[in-house]
Amino acid sequence: MHEFTPEVEALAQEVLEYSLMRLKTDPPLDGPKTPEELFELAGNTITPAGLGGHDAFALFKDVLALACISTDHPRYLAFIPSAPSEYANLFDLVVGASALYGGSWLEGAGAVFAENQALRWISDLAGLPQSAGGVFVQGGTNGNLSALVAARYHARKKYPEVTRWVVAASAEAHSSIASAAAIMDIELLLIEAGADEALHGEMSASAIDAYHASHPGHRIFAIVATAGTTNLGIIDHLDEIGAIAKARDIWFHVDGAYGLAALCAPSVRPLFNGIELADSLIVDPHKWLFAPFDACALIYRNPELAKAAHTQKASYLDTLEDENEWNPSDYAIHLTRRARGLPFWFSLAAHGTNEYSAAMEETLAVAKKTAEIIRTHPHLTLLRDPKLSVVAFTRNGWTMADYTRWSDQLLADQIGFVTPSSHHGQPILRFAIVNPWTKIEDIQAILATL
Ligand SMILES: *Cc1c(COP(=O)(O)O)cnc(C)c1O
Repeated sequence: MHEFTPEVEALAQEVLEYSLMRLKTDPPLDGPKTPEELFELAGNTITPAGLGGHDAFALFKDVLALACISTDHPRYLAFIPSAPSEYANLFDLVVGASALYGGSWLEGAGAVFAENQALRWISDLAGLPQSAGGVFVQGGTNGNLSALVAARYHARKKYPEVTRWVVAASAEAHSSIASAAAIMDIELLLIEAGADEALHGEMSASAIDAYHASHPGHRIFAIVATAGTTNLGIIDHLDEIGAIAKARDIWFHVDGAYGLAALCAPSVRPLFNGIELADSLIVDPHKWLFAPFDACALIYRNPELAKAAHTQKASYLDTLEDENEWNPSDYAIHLTRRARGLPFWFSLAAHGTNEYSAAMEETLAVAKKTAEIIRTHPHLTLLRDPKLSVVAFTRNGWTMADYTRWSDQLLADQIGFVTPSSHHGQPILRFAIVNPWTKIEDIQAILATL
């Protein structure tokens, strides 16, 4: 198994050929099958004698891969798609072949150095101090949880008398915030958004003060603002929330898993004013920063606070504790980690940041054009002007059943992948446009079926 035999060499050719073909040519959308259908096609793949490399790979190419939707397809507009650059994908092959350990400086100094420069780019775009830093974690869910755990750890030291911890967020906040609250066994205070559906400073301040007044012993230790909600791309008023949080000694966390990618787009950068006040932030390069799964950049204003909360201590780890070395494991809930920020770093280093801004502006322009087309479409109603690249709308007269039927058919016909969502209890459709390869013609092809 660990010898590079001629058989391995032959498989290597096949694997590289397939990988290059997958990168070069438009992949079909494909789609899921039932477990029964897959068993029918694949059978039991784990056997004492093994299938052999060639046959196992053929099974993947001919059966399994076809039962996975290509998330980088230009007409995959559901949820938040992925749109890794060619360079990022290629470099993921290198990372996969290199047995890099990304948890400690001792073992992965070169990788950690590069990842940290990529994090620095984001941190600088946000206007955080030079002392800011963090780590690439698996996803936004882990990023949000790790940030909130660090925030509470810090608050516990400062406010030992507190009996119940509380995190505040808007009702539009991502589901991972409620999940983090459940895991941490803390309360979640949902604050009402304004008429623009964004969280405001004043409304947040009164909700927080009223909560504290009526809940002695409880303390709101963190407020989460969302910089680009998943459903509609709404950006909370970061400057206002940052200010009211600071005045109350509350940790200001910004969940920008999707939206903060647009920090590098000059046309929308002002929407994020106030981000420089964040105590922590996240953004997923696997969403709108053209990196493959899975990578979330988690950045702290003061990484020392996170390190105190997250460093694992054990005799077999003592040798890693050098004050001057940056160990990515110390900044989130994890120990062993893949150097998952490297594909993003490589693409960013190779292309330069200007190309990132340009690609980002391209997706924003397609989103704007899409909104214009929908606004004048006879059967469609635009929900709101897109601030970022999520365009939400309704089809006049349709129920959820109609949307679901349409969505299923769209995928069955291999035209596109768009799933219904809802807003204030009403079914809606949304296009999440993060792929520079998504052209207005792709949008038109989908709209033609409505
Ligand atoms: C996607 C998303 C998350 C969760 O990120 P994962 O990488 O899927 O775990 C959190 N917050 C927002 C706003 C998101 O869009």
